[in-house]
Amino acid sequence: PAGFEQVALHPFAGLDPARAPLAELDARNISAWFGDHQVLDRVSLTMPAGVVTALIGPSGCGKSTFLRILNRMHELIPSASLAGEVLIDGEDIYDTGRRLVDARKSIGMVFQKPNPFPAMSIYDNVIAGLTLTGTRSSRDERDYLVESCLTKAGLWKEVRDRLRAPGGGLSGGQQQRLCIARSLAVKPRVLLMDEPCSALDPTSTRVIEETMLELVNDVTIVIVTHNMQQAQRVSGQCAFFLATQGQPGAIVEHGDTEAMFDSPLDSRTFDYVNGRF
Ligand code: ADP
Ligand code: MG
Repeated sequence: PAGFEQVALHPFAGLDPARAPLAELDARNISAWFGDHQVLDRVSLTMPAGVVTALIGPSGCGKSTFLRILNRMHELIPSASLAGEVLIDGEDIYDTGRRLVDARKSIGMVFQKPNPFPAMSIYDNVIAGLTLTGTRSSRDERDYLVESCLTKAGLWKEVRDRLRAPGGGLSGGQQQRLCIARSLAVKPRVLLMDEPCSALDPTSTRVIEETMLELVNDVTIVIVTHNMQQAQRVSGQCAFFLATQGQPGAIVEHGDTEAMFDSPLDSRTFDYVNGRF
């Protein structure tokens, strides 16, 4: 695509500020509570670099809670508590010595509803994370970062002539890609996406799926989706969450996406992926 050539020719291209080393994310024995209501029970899942991991399962089974635990957002909810470990390349993000901002910087999050800062320009939206994390940069570095992140998010060509226009003026699909670009600007090693296409039309959904398949070479991606076709199109690994009546959520089975859809091991997975509940 045309956008990539400009990036390649840029003097900072070799430095590629949007790129951080690929990382494996490992959740071990994660349990979660709201007050004394347990919503996850000893969930373990390794999310390798290089493939998209899709989390599937009915509403209320704890997928969003699990994602929030992966980037230390869960602890912001006053009634919430948890047990277990989350490791990025073997380092526990819950280590008491680690600064929260460092843990969060390495793990970006994109939500169901696109949430750019609406009155802020497209340009400033992309670099907003630099201000929040206190990262110093030159004007040229910021220009390059904006171009490179918008290119990676598949939005550069559409907005290059109106970088000073407000982010809120973009279409829903464009706003979601702007949020992806904003996440990328702080060089995350993992990108978590909670139903990123649920609020979007099919065309925007396809564009974002293509973006994910490109991005997964740069950043480890975990998505929650209720769209079984989407899980099959984008993910290499799939985990099926379920909260049986009155029980906390747990993973019923996980593994290679194609295998799980073709020949699930558990009858409940079969029923779910075939739309039976
Ligand atoms: P999913 O994303 O799979 O739909 P969630 O992680 O949102 O599931 O929710 C899992 C369970 O935790 C549900 O029973 C939900 O009601 C409960 N829950 C989620 N967020 C909160 C919260 N902030 N306070 C109390 N309970 C919550
Ligand atoms: Mg959810």
